[in-house]
Amino acid sequence: MTRNHRGSLIRPFPLPGSASRPVVTPLSPSVVYASDTPDALDDQYEGRVQGYTYSREGHPNASVVAAHLDAMEGATGGVLTGSGMAAVGAVLMGLLKTGDHVVGGNQLYGRSRRMMAEDLPRLGIGVTLADPGDIAAMRAAMTPQTKMILVEVVSNPTLRVADIRGLAALAKETGALLVVDNTFTTPRAFRPFDHGADIVIHSITKLLAGHSDVMLGYVAARDPDLAQRLMVFSVTLGLTPSPFDCWLAERGLLTFPLRFDRAQATAARLADHLAGLPGVRRVLYPMREDHPDHALAADLLGGQGCNMVSFEMEGGRATANAFTRAAEGLSFAPTLGDVGTTLSHPASSSHRGLTAQDRAALGITEGFFRVSVGLEDPEALIAVFTEAVAAATGRG
Ligand SMILES: *Cc1c(COP(=O)(O)O)cnc(C)c1O
Repeated sequence: MTRNHRGSLIRPFPLPGSASRPVVTPLSPSVVYASDTPDALDDQYEGRVQGYTYSREGHPNASVVAAHLDAMEGATGGVLTGSGMAAVGAVLMGLLKTGDHVVGGNQLYGRSRRMMAEDLPRLGIGVTLADPGDIAAMRAAMTPQTKMILVEVVSNPTLRVADIRGLAALAKETGALLVVDNTFTTPRAFRPFDHGADIVIHSITKLLAGHSDVMLGYVAARDPDLAQRLMVFSVTLGLTPSPFDCWLAERGLLTFPLRFDRAQATAARLADHLAGLPGVRRVLYPMREDHPDHALAADLLGGQGCNMVSFEMEGGRATANAFTRAAEGLSFAPTLGDVGTTLSHPASSSHRGLTAQDRAALGITEGFFRVSVGLEDPEALIAVFTEAVAAATGRG
């Protein structure tokens, strides 16, 4: 083909050759992949050679991030999805069928809870929620149709800890799958497959990507057949994420261990500091000895904590308003795992759908805040909290 000819066709010019390789994964937004011949395509479809065809079925940027997460979780064949909720949906809707029953933790992430409360019953799938720290209660919630148990290791926002070992034994005994949403704990603190889980879910959006600029999810199954079913279901539904989001997430993952260690060390210090402030009624942090699940947390999390701290101030909504106003430089935003510290107020956000009475039963009052500790200088962060609590409560 002459040079002239190529210039008039609608195709990019070929990449220049390079004997050296980029050290950063190239971004590959291509939706389709061209093959040389039908024979070459056959080789690919029959698995004789590796290759991509259409990006809903997979693309290099997703493969790279999935391999990274697989290595962190001790998994193989993990699947990336466009959000954490897409991963939860793939598990609940891709593996359960009409007539099945699932037992969920009673403090699951709000949207997961909603999928269980509203979408599964519509499909004829039964749901019961129970306390995942109480094995007798979880056992009592099970029926002969229970195919799955879905829990988070550390709950939002009261940071209760699930008895994962007890749940793994219960799942094994009853033949149900144990599904663990490991978003809060991350594989840095806890690897569910090492403790008997069958399926692991992540919202990569949070700590793993870590910069609040990517939505992404991950799901991996220990059993290869289940892993294959999850892959096929997510391709069929089009849950595949965009290459750019995967590319950003990979960049975030490279600093994840450093960020996690720093944030959780600061969180431990902040928790202890808050506990000594006038106007603070209680502090919830699993690594503190006054936490109701301290022993379980120490056992499961191997000395690692998490970057989340919750605390309750004396006072009502006026105190809460004064606190977010006074906490200058901290974002009052309902997310977690960002490089900067963020505050969430469950009574007006994640738990606003509950009655005040139901919230009170969970210990969530107007003075209750959840803190996702970021990477600020710990001294500066502690100073901001000290001043904001004093300004809000009028004490200190
Ligand atoms: C945020 C979150 C999800 C949902 O993830 P998205 O990426 O926001 O869809 C699921 N589980 C937990 C524990 C979460 O914190």
